[in-house]
Amino acid sequence: MSFIVAIDGPAGTGKGTVTKILAKKFKLINVDTGAMYRCVALDMLNKGVKLEELDKIKEILENINIELKHENNKDLVFLNDEDVTEKIRSKEVSGFVSQVSSIKEVRLSMVGLQRKMAEGKEVIMEGRDIGTYVFPAADVKIYLDADLEERARRRFKQNKEKGINTPYVEVLENIKMRDENDKSKEIGALKLAHDAEVIDSTSMSINQVVREISSIIQKKKNEIKMQGKIYKERKENAWKKFVRKVVKVFLSALYHIAYRVKINGSVPKEGAYILCCNHINYLDAAAIVLFNKRKVKFVAKEDLFTHGILYWLGHLFDAIPIKRDMQDIEAMKRCLRVLKKGELLGIFPEGTRKGMEKNMKAKNGAAYMAIKSNVKVIPVGIHGTFKPFSKVYVNYGEPIDLSKYKNQKDKLDEATEIIMEQIVMLTKKED
Ligand code: C5P
Repeated sequence: MSFIVAIDGPAGTGKGTVTKILAKKFKLINVDTGAMYRCVALDMLNKGVKLEELDKIKEILENINIELKHENNKDLVFLNDEDVTEKIRSKEVSGFVSQVSSIKEVRLSMVGLQRKMAEGKEVIMEGRDIGTYVFPAADVKIYLDADLEERARRRFKQNKEKGINTPYVEVLENIKMRDENDKSKEIGALKLAHDAEVIDSTSMSINQVVREISSIIQKKKNEIKMQGKIYKERKENAWKKFVRKVVKVFLSALYHIAYRVKINGSVPKEGAYILCCNHINYLDAAAIVLFNKRKVKFVAKEDLFTHGILYWLGHLFDAIPIKRDMQDIEAMKRCLRVLKKGELLGIFPEGTRKGMEKNMKAKNGAAYMAIKSNVKVIPVGIHGTFKPFSKVYVNYGEPIDLSKYKNQKDKLDEATEIIMEQIVMLTKKED
């Protein structure tokens, strides 16, 4: 699986230095996209190709071979098998590259290469349009910024260390010109991605910037790791079955001590059904899972799985984690697999606790899956205050057949309405 860190921002913000350190620290492949545009500019300068000579530029792009290598702790840039690491930083290339990178054909070609370089890999990519255009779904997006004069001072100092003696005023002018050009490009213009973290490095040391970005990358890595754990399906085996049985007996006993549970109706002994119930308390799903002879796999919001004991119980009872406020395709596929296997799936169409009370529109997922899998929906009305020792009613209704809505996606709201009406009715039953 790929992991992409996008570092965007104008020239002289320290992107290059910071990216190198982070690449090493997190073992990421470092892709300096600026260096790639510089290679094209250098190739054009070498071959005397002018900006308006589009045919010749296209020929260059067809034959160009750019390699970014990491050897002996150094990042090296190769253009058509020649090491051009130093040459691409020359005054001539710096003064030309921004215009070269504005040419649509150049951009499309380089973006294609950049996407290929990252395929299935863990990369850190620095540039101008990585988080906005090249990888709009990058895992981490940083926009590194700094005051213009500070950036010019840094670039001047960096040049000097490399033996490049461009006067400060000239460096400043070049950066200013590049800023303007980079921000006004037709495609891939330098701009802030709406979901990028902005870091202003004007008065920050490199170490401070590295620390700040490191913590953002680490947080994301932890999140991804957690997601992997949450979504991992634990295989059924004899031990798991045994533990589930013991836990079920123990928890149902506890439940009976805490509440006087009254169950009306039941589910058929065999076959796939979707149990749709109202959601008034965190313990309502437990009443369905614990007091059912058959296993009910419940759909539950994924953040519930981040708590130790709930995470363990979720896996033990094969709950299906779902991301809220978005279409969670993975969760949907898992639900459909449950139904295909002829099992019971539990869903709260309200999507959240007390959704009906909050006047929230019920979600269509249950109706959609019932129609798609050709299974019936069993409405369940749960009723009670969930105060200690109070009565909790779990009322199962008759299976609802929604097959008349097959191939009528626009009728999903209507089908959901039918389910909700039944649920509401069942919540009023008290005998
Ligand atoms: O980052 P660096 O200064 O080496 O980039 C050189 C030039 O390449 C930039 O001024 C910009 O015009 C162009 N560039 C770009 N898109 C990127 C990276 C660099 O247009 N993703």
